[in-house]
Amino acid sequence: MTPIPFDDRDGWIWMDGDFVPWREARVHVLTHALHYASSVFEGERLYDGEIFKLTDHTRRLFRSAELLDFQIPYTVAEIDRACNETAARMGLADGYVRPIAWRGAEQMGVSAPLSRTHVAVAVWEWPSYYDPAAKARGVRLTWAKWRRPAPDTAPTEAKAAGLYMICTLSKHAAERAGYADAMMLDWRGQVAEATGANVFFVRDGAIHTPTPDCILNGITRQTVMALARARGVEVIERAIMPDELATFSECFITGSAAEVTPVSEIGEHRFTPGPLSLSLMEQYSNLTRRVAVTA
Ligand code: PMP
Repeated sequence: MTPIPFDDRDGWIWMDGDFVPWREARVHVLTHALHYASSVFEGERLYDGEIFKLTDHTRRLFRSAELLDFQIPYTVAEIDRACNETAARMGLADGYVRPIAWRGAEQMGVSAPLSRTHVAVAVWEWPSYYDPAAKARGVRLTWAKWRRPAPDTAPTEAKAAGLYMICTLSKHAAERAGYADAMMLDWRGQVAEATGANVFFVRDGAIHTPTPDCILNGITRQTVMALARARGVEVIERAIMPDELATFSECFITGSAAEVTPVSEIGEHRFTPGPLSLSLMEQYSNLTRRVAVTA
């Protein structure tokens, strides 16, 4: 099946303060971001007409830009409004929201302090990150050959385009080998994250997850940790070595796109989607859709 190209769709994209027809939201080939990865972005989901944790995402976009040494020429409230208005214009109740900020074409070269910062927001329909059937029984992951860099090697706290180079390479290799995604180690050899999601493990009723000291401290990750703790489940953030994976019974990954997705396999290790993964998957889904939960 040939996917519909992303530059040839109907709709509107918010770009630098105005709505432009989808196909006209273009940049020049000599754009700094394209050559030097001076680009930061967000990934958000729209549920029943509302963007989940919108302002948290917008704040992270601003923080990411700051970490890449450029300023977004709007306020957080203005970008929030741009996201909401784009979703409304697209007429979608459920979908994916992609704000992006990047250095423009005013200067070409590594140094570009005078380049203008551009911002765009696009919203589109995107039902499930992984195949829904696979999601229910757990997705299969393989090990990535690329490692998450140290915080003094790259601005690892930023959701920056440049950090995704090794994610695309890792995910392509995984998919070619028949897996849904790849699990990455960090520069120290500790379990880090999937190519677009954080990871959690379960042992004896407690949840273990890597300390986010060189990985994205995901908004979904923080939400799910709060949900678990509110239920009295112990959540331990610590260094996790790959050979420990044999000691865990359940595994799941989290992300705005991936939501809460059980994992059945990482390399040689097997997990069974169990009560904690499945109940957190449901609780997260209820929270995003504001389903009132009794009990
Ligand atoms: N790690 C990486 C590398 C990601 O791309 C994402 C998705 N943004 C996450 C973790 C999860 O972050 P969030 O829950 O904020 O979407």
